[in-house]
Amino acid sequence: MIKITLPDGSVKSFEQGSTPMDVAKSISEGLARNIISASFNGLTVETSTKLTTDGSLVLYSWKNDEGKKAFWHSSAHVLAQAIEELYPKSKLTIGPAIDNGFYYDVDFGDESISDKDFKTIENKMLEIARGKHEFAMRSVTKADALSLYKDNEYKTELIENLEDGTITFCDHSTFTDLCRGGHIPNTGIIKAVKILSVAGAYWRGDENKPQLTRVYGTSFPKQKELTEYLALLEEAKKRDHRKLGKELELFTFSQRVGQGLPLWLPKGAALRERLENFLKEAQKKAGYEMVVTPHIGQKELYETSGHYAKYGEDSFQPITTPKEGEEFLLKPMNCPHHCEIYNSAQWSYKDLPKRFAEFGTVYRYEQSGELHGLTRVRGFTQDDAHIFCTPDQLDTEFKNVIDLVLYVFGSLGFENFTAQVSLRDPEKPEKYIGSIENWEKAEQAIINAAKDKNLNYVIETGEAAFYGPKLDFMVKDALGRQWQLGTIQVDYNLPERFDLTYKGSDNESHRPVMIHRAPFGSLERFIAILLEHTGGNFPLWLMPNQVSVLTLSEKYEKYGEKVLTLLENHEIRALVDNRSETIGKKIREAEMSKTPYMIIIGEQEEAENKISVRQHGGEDLGTISVDEFAEIVKTEINKTKKQF
Ligand SMILES: [Zn+2]
Ligand SMILES: [Zn+2]
Repeated sequence: MIKITLPDGSVKSFEQGSTPMDVAKSISEGLARNIISASFNGLTVETSTKLTTDGSLVLYSWKNDEGKKAFWHSSAHVLAQAIEELYPKSKLTIGPAIDNGFYYDVDFGDESISDKDFKTIENKMLEIARGKHEFAMRSVTKADALSLYKDNEYKTELIENLEDGTITFCDHSTFTDLCRGGHIPNTGIIKAVKILSVAGAYWRGDENKPQLTRVYGTSFPKQKELTEYLALLEEAKKRDHRKLGKELELFTFSQRVGQGLPLWLPKGAALRERLENFLKEAQKKAGYEMVVTPHIGQKELYETSGHYAKYGEDSFQPITTPKEGEEFLLKPMNCPHHCEIYNSAQWSYKDLPKRFAEFGTVYRYEQSGELHGLTRVRGFTQDDAHIFCTPDQLDTEFKNVIDLVLYVFGSLGFENFTAQVSLRDPEKPEKYIGSIENWEKAEQAIINAAKDKNLNYVIETGEAAFYGPKLDFMVKDALGRQWQLGTIQVDYNLPERFDLTYKGSDNESHRPVMIHRAPFGSLERFIAILLEHTGGNFPLWLMPNQVSVLTLSEKYEKYGEKVLTLLENHEIRALVDNRSETIGKKIREAEMSKTPYMIIIGEQEEAENKISVRQHGGEDLGTISVDEFAEIVKTEINKTKKQF
C-alpha cells in the first residue's frame, strides 16, 4: 500500500500502482469526470501514471491553469497528427501549450498553408478528437528515438541533446511524438478547436536557421466556451491600444526616430500631463518631494548599483565623450540617481522618511522582435519614487503606498485586482542580502499592511528578489485579462551599495531601508492598458475633451462661444464644432473620438438660453441649462475620482 496526501492534508492508503484517476474515483465519480491532469510530489504526471511511492497528489480540472496547460498541450499533439495526415511531407518540430492555446512549428517543405486551410485542419482535429484516443507515455532508447525520426533533422537535433534513458514518447491514435508528458486522459475531451493564425518562426528562434511555419490554435471542452473566447478576441482587436492610439491621435512611431520609441502627439501629451498631475497632486498630499535627474549616468554609477554587472551586456552600450573618453549609460532606472540625491545631505532619523518622486524617462534595450506598441518599448517614463526610511517606519510607509495605489486604481476604473506578496525562501538564507531580522520586519510589515488594507492577497514564498520582499498588484481588465500594475518593493541592497546612512536617536550611524514604488509602472504601458480596459472611453475626469458643442449651423457661432465660456467657468473642458457640416456628421465624428458629451445648439436652444445634451453612445439627456449640465458632469466625475 502507498500513502497519498491530498491538498486538504488528508492522507489515504491505496494499492501500489494506483493512478491519480483511481484516487479521483475513490473520492467521487463526479470528480473523476472532471479531472484532466495531476501532479505528484510537485511533478506533472499523467492521470494514468501508476503511483508506486508515498507522496502528495494534486488533481486538476479545466478550471485550473495546470488543467488548461495539459488540455492545450494535448491539443497540440492532435494538431500535429492532423498536419501529418493532411501534409505527409511536412516535418514537425516543437509544439508547446501557451497562454490561451497552443502552437506547433512545422516545416511544410515546398507547401505553405493559409487561412483557407484552417477549416480543413480544424475538421481533421475534431475527427481525431472524436476517436477518444488515450494518451500513453513510454520510454524509448536514444537509438530507437533517432531511428523513428531519421528523416526529421529537427527532432533528431532535439533527441541528440537528450540523455539516453530519459527519452519518452507519447502515443495516441496512430500518432507518436517526442514528449515529456502532461496530458489529458483522452482526445475525446477536446470538443471545440480553432486554428487562429500562422506566422513565420525560425528554428530555435535563430534567424540563421531555417524558417518554419508556426500554426497557432486554441481548443475548449465546450463549443460555447470557444464561441465566447472568439468574441473576446474580436473585442480585444477593437480595443487594441495601437489601433485606438491612432484613431484618438494619441501617439505614433517613426522608423526614422527609431523602433520602440513612442512619439506623443498633442492629445496624447495632454493625456499624459493629466495623469502626471493627478498623481503629483496625490503624492504631494502624501509627503513626496519631486526631484529631477538626467537621462544618462556614468558607467561607474551602475557598477556601484550592480546593474551593470547584471544587465550591462544586454543594455544599450555606453556613450563615450570624444576627448576624455568618459563612459555614460542611458539611464535604465532612476534608483541609483535617487540614492545619490539622498547622499547629497546628512540625515537624522527625525528627517526620515524622505520620499523622492520623479517622472523619470528610462531606456532599456529590447530586441526588435519583442517590441509591441506601448507595452514593450525602448524608452519609457516611470512614475517612480523612492522612499528612504528607518526599519520601524516600514509598516506605516507600506500602508501609505498601498493607499496611494488603491486611489490610483479606483480613480481609473480598475476595480478587479488581487495582490501578491513575495517573500524569501527561509530555507535558503544565503540567497538574500540583508539581516534576517530586517527581512522578518519587512515581510511582517507587508503582510500587516495587506491585511490592514483588506487586500485580497496571496503569499508566494521564495518569490522575493534577492534584495527584498515585495507586493505586486494584479489587475483584471474589462476583458478579463490580467496585468501586473503597481509594484511596491523593499530594498536592502542599494542602501548598502551606496553606503546610505542616517543618524539614529542613539547618535550612531544606521542604514535606511529603501522602497521602490510606481503605481502606473510606466506611463506608456499604463496608457496602453487603460486604452484596452476602457476601449478609449476614459473616466470623464481624464478625458482631454469632455464636451463638444455642435452648432446646427454657422448662425449659432456666437451662442456656441457663449456656451463654451459658461462651460469653462465650470472647469469643463470643451470645444465648439462650428463647421458647415451636417449635424449628423458632427455627431458621428464626436462619437468616433469618444467625446463623453455632445451639446447641440440651434434656434430653440438659443431662444431659451438652454442646451440639448447627448451622451456618448446615444442617450438623450434633454434640453437643460448649462448649470444643470455642469451638475451632471460634477456628479459623474465624483463617482470615479474620489478625494485622496
Ligand atoms: Zn505531450
Ligand atoms: Zn527604483
